[in-house]
Amino acid sequence: MPSVIVGAGLVGSLLAITLKKRGEDVILFERNTDMRLEELGAGRSINLIITSRGLNAVKKVGILEDVLALTVPVTGRMMHSKAGEQTYQPYGKDPSECNFSISRAELNKLLMTKAEEAGVEIIFSHSVHKIDVDKDEIYFTGPSKIERTENFDRIYGTDGANSAVRKELLNLVPASKESMNLINADYKELFMPAAESGDYAIEKNALHIWPRGNHMLMALPNLDGSFTMTLYLPRDGENSFENLKTDEDLHNYFKENYADSIPLMPNYKEDFFENPQGILGTVRANPWNFSDRICLLGDAAHAVVPFFGQGMNAGFEDVTCLMDCIDKSEGDWKLAFDNYSKDQKPNGDAIADMAIENFEEMSDKVGDERFLFFKKVENELQKRFPDKFRSRYGMVVYTLVPYSYAKAAGEIQWQIIEEIAVEKTDLESINWDHALKLIDEKLVPFQKENNVSLERYKH
Ligand SMILES: Cc1cc2nc3c(=O)[nH]c(=O)nc-3n(C[C@H](O)[C@H](O)[C@H](O)COP(=O)(O)OP(=O)(O)OC[C@H]3O[C@@H](n4cnc5c(N)ncnc54)[C@H](O)[C@@H]3O)c2cc1C
Repeated sequence: MPSVIVGAGLVGSLLAITLKKRGEDVILFERNTDMRLEELGAGRSINLIITSRGLNAVKKVGILEDVLALTVPVTGRMMHSKAGEQTYQPYGKDPSECNFSISRAELNKLLMTKAEEAGVEIIFSHSVHKIDVDKDEIYFTGPSKIERTENFDRIYGTDGANSAVRKELLNLVPASKESMNLINADYKELFMPAAESGDYAIEKNALHIWPRGNHMLMALPNLDGSFTMTLYLPRDGENSFENLKTDEDLHNYFKENYADSIPLMPNYKEDFFENPQGILGTVRANPWNFSDRICLLGDAAHAVVPFFGQGMNAGFEDVTCLMDCIDKSEGDWKLAFDNYSKDQKPNGDAIADMAIENFEEMSDKVGDERFLFFKKVENELQKRFPDKFRSRYGMVVYTLVPYSYAKAAGEIQWQIIEEIAVEKTDLESINWDHALKLIDEKLVPFQKENNVSLERYKH
């Protein structure tokens, strides 16, 4: 019997390629129609940042170059002040230390095509609604409500944050848990076209941010000279979706907050009023598997808010982790699924927590001078002691250390920063010998205990 993957999104499609290339018999079901044959609905394009964990997973299945061909390198953040001043903060010490902007839809299409080329059959327009593990049967509703039954060996739930597979799995496991917590911020996609010359209207190789406390605008470059913009806004309160009801409200809000972007976004009003408003939240579930029969990956297991740019990267890492567990379990699928769930669940929890913290940081601390000074100190520490100290952001985005390690080490590092920077206001007055002593006493033993390498992931 084949294994059934439910959901041909980013993670399900990558999983299908990976399993098929290992000789597994898999069939992939997708609720939607084939996106390669249709125009994408307005406001649903979403650009993602792909970083070390995502690149590592696509490299393992031999499609790194195809993926990179769809990306625009992003070498730093460009912060836009209300007055229109731009401040560039490079991510690394040179432009090779960068992230990559990619269209979610284009990546998804590529992964589907690669899955088919590997020999995977994708059945579109079929939505799972029930699983009977005793009968080895999974039931889908197809076009015109016609039901289709498929026999299965194993089911992989990659059907996103509202996963139907997760609900079936949790019904099978006594004392299982699930939670979904929305944050009080939704998002809306807007668009900045290429300039008349065809060039990018703002710096091409940057993630642009207009940070305004609990609301902000972001822009990521596309290959064709345009930018996909995302506006994050509270649902209610001051500066919220609730308060932007008319053209005039919107114009005043943009004039006050993002004046420099107005001439570059001729259709921002239409986009704002016509595009769908997306919700953002964290999904947690435990466990991620039911014996050797059902296994969850990607957003189905751990949807996170997008403020660390890691949802897909974490989902791709799930695929890598599951394959390692399969390799180590020598044909014992229950052991493989149990170990995957045990190993990767703490990492899903850690990236969910760090993404929320980043959201709070962006909302509350962006104008906090102490916080910004501590960030400077953090940066200086990693410059001075690169073998021993890497910022939490750097660990998440440029290495393959487990997210749970990055979170725990990040806490130790922050305590060190607080200790050396207390009552200081400039880098010159910091005692760097004392900093090194603290790093050697508190951080290095933790690194050794966890046997991690802070080395930068190089694709
Ligand atoms: C605004 C925004 C910005 C983001 N930025 C980043 C970023 O920079 N970097 C990053 O790594 N991540 C980012 N993310 C997160 C990323 O988009 C998700 O983590 C990723 O898409 C999850 O992939 P997935 O395959 O697990 O789920 P999905 O992409 O949700 O795919 C699930 C698939 O399952 C199908 N499906 C659902 N239900 C059923 C059913 N019952 N039967 C059959 N099929 C079904 C769906 O149609 C879909 O195709 C961002 C998210 C948002 C909202």
